[in-house]
Amino acid sequence: MGLRLHNTLARRTEDFHPVVAGRVGIYGCGPTAYGPAHIGNFRTFVFYDLVHRYLEWKGYQVRFVMNLTDVDDKTIRAARDEGVSLGHYTQPWVDRILEEADVLGIRRFDLYPRATNYIEEMVQIVQRLLDRDLAYTTEDGSVFFDISAFPTYGRLSGRDLEKARQGERVSADEYGKEDVRDFALWKGTKPEDEKVGAAWDAPWGRGRPGWHLECSAMALAEVGETLDLHLGGEDLIFPHHEDEIAQSEGATGRTFARYWLHVKHLRVEGKKMSKSLGNFITVGDLLEEGVSPAAIRHQLLSAQYRSELNFTRAGLEASSRAVRRLVAFGERIREHPVAADAPPTSLLDLADQATEAFNRAMDDDLNSAAGMAALFIFVKRANAVLDATEALDPGERERAVRVLESLDQVLGLLELSERSHVVDASLREWVEERIRARAGARERKDWGAADRIRDELAERGIVLEDGEGGTRWKREEGVG
Ligand code: AMP
Ligand code: ZN
Repeated sequence: MGLRLHNTLARRTEDFHPVVAGRVGIYGCGPTAYGPAHIGNFRTFVFYDLVHRYLEWKGYQVRFVMNLTDVDDKTIRAARDEGVSLGHYTQPWVDRILEEADVLGIRRFDLYPRATNYIEEMVQIVQRLLDRDLAYTTEDGSVFFDISAFPTYGRLSGRDLEKARQGERVSADEYGKEDVRDFALWKGTKPEDEKVGAAWDAPWGRGRPGWHLECSAMALAEVGETLDLHLGGEDLIFPHHEDEIAQSEGATGRTFARYWLHVKHLRVEGKKMSKSLGNFITVGDLLEEGVSPAAIRHQLLSAQYRSELNFTRAGLEASSRAVRRLVAFGERIREHPVAADAPPTSLLDLADQATEAFNRAMDDDLNSAAGMAALFIFVKRANAVLDATEALDPGERERAVRVLESLDQVLGLLELSERSHVVDASLREWVEERIRARAGARERKDWGAADRIRDELAERGIVLEDGEGGTRWKREEGVG
């Protein structure tokens, strides 16, 4: 069976063949470190993780690079407003995004290049484009890509060259380019850039890179001149990815990326997510509500990446139940009695069918919805076998456990739930210590201290019940 992917560039689903057999080089456009990432961003990043894990599951040697955008209009403006340097502003956001990625079981990629560490590479690309007459400088020290010199511009997005950039007239006025469709490779420095440390010297003048150039430079430097896969959210097709192609191919003369995959935007309760609608949800918000990371991950994988996905409370509850069913099955099968003389069951067949169905679903343009369905059908049928069987042949049980673990290497749901238990254990320890401290305060008749401890626990969602046998505690009911 072979992997097939929907390639935005070809506008169809194609067989996947990397440049070098057995190896895959991937670049995914990463987050901009100017604020918290929302759950929509994480649909995209969990998808990256799925691609990473599935290609490894299929035996490919994968190099996966995801950048961190730490210099652009938004980060500069925000740093200026707070009166701090760019690095000072972006670092805490980078930390939080990577932490939340960990929480959702997104395995570490091979490298997280930051734009500000690749200025030299960016300058070199611009220089090559100038040398090849694909770019020109303006009076304020900016450099623009000359679209009229690059005939294949527009191929990825399928946009009409004439109309391509009409929405962007404002920025054209700002930097005085020759043609409204040309885009900035380098922006001549401004006082606000200098103030936050976002200005670098270049042969044509001091300034800072354009956002599109950043990704080209990091991808070419860290993955190679021809990427096998380039990933991003659907909003990046134009102009970001169109411009990446123009700059990269203009500079190297080679195909920049063979397959372009774009993730459809997540909606929340049927609506587009935005701060003004008040439905901007972060992973941190959901955790505070008591939603389990595995339930979030399950919901984000519950639709194939190009399909509509509507993130809802009801969906989260269903995801949470599904994860519990999976965990319960994992425990049950591991503990089911075995006997050397147990009669054979259909478990081996079910295990083979599950692996095959999963493989087929994922090969079909990474259909995680169908992949998860294969796993849950296995759980349902295997549960029925366990219901009817007192003891299993040890080989059968082992094979069933192995299949469960194998599919989870890609889906990462059991792995995450098991990790949550570890968190639970340390929470339990903390709660029990606080309960002992509270009992001590009550013995001393220090009611103020005892109440303060109760409040402290309540803040973490822990409810106390004092009874005859002492104090019991529970977590407030939340989803997950
Ligand atoms: P940003 O931090 O805005 O640069 O976005 C980081 C990544 O998240 C990009 O690949 C975006 O395309 C993607 N993204 C932004 N909004 C959404 C959304 N609602 N659903 C899925 N992906 C998104
Ligand atoms: Zn990018």
